[in-house]
Amino acid sequence: MVLRRTLLAAAGSERTRALIERSPGSRQVVKRYVAGPATDDAVAVADALIEDGLLATIDYLGEDTTDTNQAILVKEAYLLLLERLAAAGLTPHAEVSVKLSAIGQSLSSDGEKIALEHAHAVCEAAQRAGTTVTFDMEDHTTTDSTLKIVAELRRDYPWAGIVLQAYLRRTEADCKDFAAPGSRVRLCKGAYREPESVAYQEKQDVDLSYVRCMRTLMAGEGYPMLATHDPRLIEIGGALAVRNGRSIGSYEFQMLFGVRPHEQKRLAAAGERMRVYVPYGSEWYGYLMRRLAERPANLGFFARSLVSKD
Ligand SMILES: Cc1cc2nc3c(=O)[nH]c(=O)nc-3n(C[C@H](O)[C@H](O)[C@H](O)COP(=O)(O)OP(=O)(O)OC[C@H]3O[C@@H](n4cnc5c(N)ncnc54)[C@H](O)[C@@H]3O)c2cc1C
Repeated sequence: MVLRRTLLAAAGSERTRALIERSPGSRQVVKRYVAGPATDDAVAVADALIEDGLLATIDYLGEDTTDTNQAILVKEAYLLLLERLAAAGLTPHAEVSVKLSAIGQSLSSDGEKIALEHAHAVCEAAQRAGTTVTFDMEDHTTTDSTLKIVAELRRDYPWAGIVLQAYLRRTEADCKDFAAPGSRVRLCKGAYREPESVAYQEKQDVDLSYVRCMRTLMAGEGYPMLATHDPRLIEIGGALAVRNGRSIGSYEFQMLFGVRPHEQKRLAAAGERMRVYVPYGSEWYGYLMRRLAERPANLGFFARSLVSKD
């Protein structure tokens, strides 16, 4: 718990970031979780995953953009990505994931308006390319704003997906609202450091909340996307699919690139829709720190590669 807090604090520390980015072995660790810095890296990884019978959702790394030009650059990165995915014939199996804070939501003036405009452009490009967009959920101060922006987008793009985080106390109620026909909802545990007033702190409470949320979504009429690596929750998800008479293709499992890759392939081979979240771009630091906070067992691997000379 203390280690998780320390790593989540490191995710926001510029000094730690500079230290880690300069270390010789960090690239090796990054490669395990991140496709690479360029658009073509993301397309190549998606291609390989699809070849293996998996689906992909691709995320251009970057968050908390504080200037308008950066927000425009991120939007353009998505437009290019969608063009390349379509050109490679991958859009039936690959979509994109977008953080609203990366495309303007956190700008001090007109943030929501700018994020909505940019998100609109990305959705339009996705529609042209024949695929979908899922909007990531960030820390709890942004939840209402993100839900509002996505609700607005869904008027024009009913397939626009939203993420709900089981660690938030409010999420069970949000799941009821989103169990409606046509809604695409990714359910995850949640990756940010949140106060007790809004979020469950104990793993067991988060897991129980995940099960309650999953029950609502799987019994509903939307398209649930169960994002977890947790073997128990995956098993319960499968059982709920059977209990609710859901056919394959009416829900999916999702996991992160580099995390439990054998389990990803096993589920796909068993006939499940299994989507892999593939991040790319040079802004990998905050993302990687959150992954390490979830799995301190990976720290040994990380520490070794930091001192290695390769
Ligand atoms: C597709 C996807 C999209 C996401 N989008 C968001 C988002 O928009 N917003 C957000 O806040 N969070 C997001 N997350 C992150 C999520 O909230 C969790 O932080 C993350 O998934 C870890 O939670 P877990 O469900 O895997 O459970 P954990 O409690 O971290 O792990 C449960 C169990 O899973 C297994 N496991 C986990 N990691 C590993 C590993 N590295 N190797 C082997 N076994 C492992 C272990 O058995 C472990 O006990 C997303 C996650 C996924 C998969």
